[in-house]
Amino acid sequence: MAHELIAVKYIWKEGELIPWQDAQIHVMSVAVQFGSSVFEGIRAYETERGPAVFRLPAHLRRLHDSCKIYRMEIPWTSAQLIQATAHTIAANELKSCYVRPMVLRGYGTAGLNPVGTAIETYIAVYPWGTYLGEGALEAGVDACVSTWFRPHPNTFPALAKSAGHYNCSQLIKADAVLKGFAEAIALSPSGMVSEGSGQNVFLVRDGELSTPAIDGSLLQGITRSSVIAIARDIGIPVHERPIPREALYTADEVFFTGTAAELTPVRSIDHITIGTGRAGEVTRLLQKRFLDVVHGRAADNFGWLTYVADVLDQAPVGV
Ligand code: PMP
Repeated sequence: MAHELIAVKYIWKEGELIPWQDAQIHVMSVAVQFGSSVFEGIRAYETERGPAVFRLPAHLRRLHDSCKIYRMEIPWTSAQLIQATAHTIAANELKSCYVRPMVLRGYGTAGLNPVGTAIETYIAVYPWGTYLGEGALEAGVDACVSTWFRPHPNTFPALAKSAGHYNCSQLIKADAVLKGFAEAIALSPSGMVSEGSGQNVFLVRDGELSTPAIDGSLLQGITRSSVIAIARDIGIPVHERPIPREALYTADEVFFTGTAAELTPVRSIDHITIGTGRAGEVTRLLQKRFLDVVHGRAADNFGWLTYVADVLDQAPVGV
């Protein structure tokens, strides 16, 4: 089943809140024709102090990096986009939501040279629940290794989060779902483990954590870096290294990380049971720490939460 998009009242466009249904672009926009847009996926969680956005500056930094890689001149600073995000969440009266900033090449040029095309910036916010299905966070999901590979480095720049790259993710995801799996893990062009369609992947063996190194085939996930930081903080060794496919099958535990997937255990891969077939001890420990921090239930020692109320109290920076 595809996820239903739930409309809210307003979308932020270039410094203004406009009605959701008015956020339209022309069919001949370069972004529509060629997938020329970069974006982010961020979560705001309900906390006792109202909505708090998880690692907003880190996501906006990646958005700016994506723009730079694709030579898109975004006119908005991170400080401005932080305020825009907070105002958009507040205007829509959301307690928790997904946040989708988008920077896209608009209308007015033809041909393949994108340089000079008008840039448009939007921030959409909308309700969003568990990504990989009801009960996935507790019970885990069944995954497969995809027959589709991730792109070779120097084809699509994997550090950029660009809409066009997600044609590959859609192939991976649709193929997995049609075969009855919740997700797939794709290999890199060299045949080593890369990532899921929209998540990074970790394995646990003998109490140590491993995840594929940043090798030009996978996105440098912000949840990935958060889980690495939490693990190191509690003394779990973490290795960023090349991982052969079969190491997934023989792992004690495997889990996905991503803004949408949060930290989702994987209970089988290609019908091979992983560990006990249930969320493992290390997975549960890391998941609990992660969810406690994002929901504001544990001390935010890393400074990862941006409370909407705090941002609204600040002097405006021109959004
Ligand atoms: N890989 C891909 C391809 C993704 O789309 C995502 C989601 N943005 C991730 C990994 C996980 O990244 P993050 O933890 O920053 O959401």
